[in-house]
Amino acid sequence: MNIKNYINGEFVNPIKGNYLDNYNPSIGKIYGQIPNSTKEDVVLALEAAEKAFSKWSTTTLDERSKIFSKIADLILEKLDFLAAAESKDNGKPISLAKAVDIPRAASNFQFFANAITQFSSEAHESVGLNAINFTLRQPLGVVGCISPWNLPLYLFTWKIAPAIAAGNCVIAKPSEVTPMTAYLLGEICTEAGLPKGVLNIVHGLGTSTGQAIVAHPKIKAISFTGGTKTGAHIASIAAPMFKKLSLELGGKNPNIIFADCDYDKMLETTVRSSFTNQGQICLCGSRIFVEETIYEKFKKEFIKKVSELKVGNPSEKNTNIGALVSHQHLEKVKSYIDIAEKEGGKILFGGDSVTVKNCENGYYLQPTIIEVQNNKCKLNQEEIFGPVVTMMSFKNDKEALALANESKYGLSATLWTNNLNRTMQFAKQLQTGIVWVNTWMLRDLRTPFGGAKDSGVGREGGFEALRFFTEPKNICIKY
Ligand code: NDP
Repeated sequence: MNIKNYINGEFVNPIKGNYLDNYNPSIGKIYGQIPNSTKEDVVLALEAAEKAFSKWSTTTLDERSKIFSKIADLILEKLDFLAAAESKDNGKPISLAKAVDIPRAASNFQFFANAITQFSSEAHESVGLNAINFTLRQPLGVVGCISPWNLPLYLFTWKIAPAIAAGNCVIAKPSEVTPMTAYLLGEICTEAGLPKGVLNIVHGLGTSTGQAIVAHPKIKAISFTGGTKTGAHIASIAAPMFKKLSLELGGKNPNIIFADCDYDKMLETTVRSSFTNQGQICLCGSRIFVEETIYEKFKKEFIKKVSELKVGNPSEKNTNIGALVSHQHLEKVKSYIDIAEKEGGKILFGGDSVTVKNCENGYYLQPTIIEVQNNKCKLNQEEIFGPVVTMMSFKNDKEALALANESKYGLSATLWTNNLNRTMQFAKQLQTGIVWVNTWMLRDLRTPFGGAKDSGVGREGGFEALRFFTEPKNICIKY
């Protein structure tokens, strides 16, 4: 299936007529083409967005909210169709796309349909000075949203929904590796009555199309989710223009397991937090630290549970682990398994490619568990972003905390314990944007979402996102 750009409410070919191949990772074959858009396409989208802005930014909140609810309803109506498209484009199990990716895309719109009607700003009376101050929060204008391939529609809508709800017009670029559901969203937005030019979707390579969005001086803010290196590059281009920047970047998240935890719940959740979406979630707990008194028991039982996961065709219902997103990514992940052997890591389970019946050219890898002795090794310090976890033991709280914080990343951490005192000590001292205690990836969309250290700048979610996509202006009235 060939796709087009969505500009000014219309599906259009790229101006220069160049296309890129789109692969189905489950069979390793090209199944369509996508626009390889250039600066000229970004400018066309910008013109449409600028034209739409004055009207959209003055649309009532009630009207915006109604359109958003309609988009959410349409996404849910097309759940099966969108889930199949997501699974084909990305390689993820269709069951996961149905249960998580697509419902969450609908929730992103429904959440901001409600949030925008509750978003308000402050007023400050300057007592004794006969003055009143209030804060106007105005939309920025045209903003850019750039999203990655791991949770395609989920993360794409997580950015564009608050941007549009706040009254901005958007130029968005999904990853060129997984463009399909963003393309399908264009149709849904038109059907829901989103006015022309409010959302414009331009497909293409990060280094050309994405770069053109970041570099255009008239695009006032960039909301980006992706790798840390790309984030740093984007910041270097955007900073001299004083653009607002929200960067959600990589992670190398610790999963800290104490002997006093609810063991069965921990074991089941740790399998999920390690391998959901083939380990391609920025929040996956890729470094597992286990208290030494239960280390051997955990090791044995974790290996057993992981060995029961079925690697297979993503479109089959009982598949737990589908294909990795691309051949290039598969090779990258495998290169870390090679490094493990050189670094003295011990592969406890997995480590090999898998050949799946009728999908022989797909990009499949066994879930892989590697025991390491040294937290400073590459395997524990670099983001692998695949179905590979490491594990090592610790003696006490002090050591566990030091191991968890010994990372340039600071996105999330998971802690398993029933000790309240320990929970509070870790919650305060873990250098991450998110701490899950006795759970993983339980999301409440009102909460601030994002990372510390090299995992990013700024926060998404709830009013944080609406604040990012608006400019606060202080009005002081003397009376
Ligand atoms: P990339 O950084 O390679 O790409 C992310 C997006 O940016 C894609 O749309 C990409 O386009 C685009 N892009 C690439 N180069 C540029 C550029 N120079 N200018 C503008 N845009 C550009 O990340 P991946 O897609 O590989 O995603 C995986 C990464 O995302 C991991 O590091 C993961 O941890 C992180 N991530 C972080 C999350 C968070 O919330 N903190 C959540 C999910 C993922 P294209 O793909 O077409 O090259």
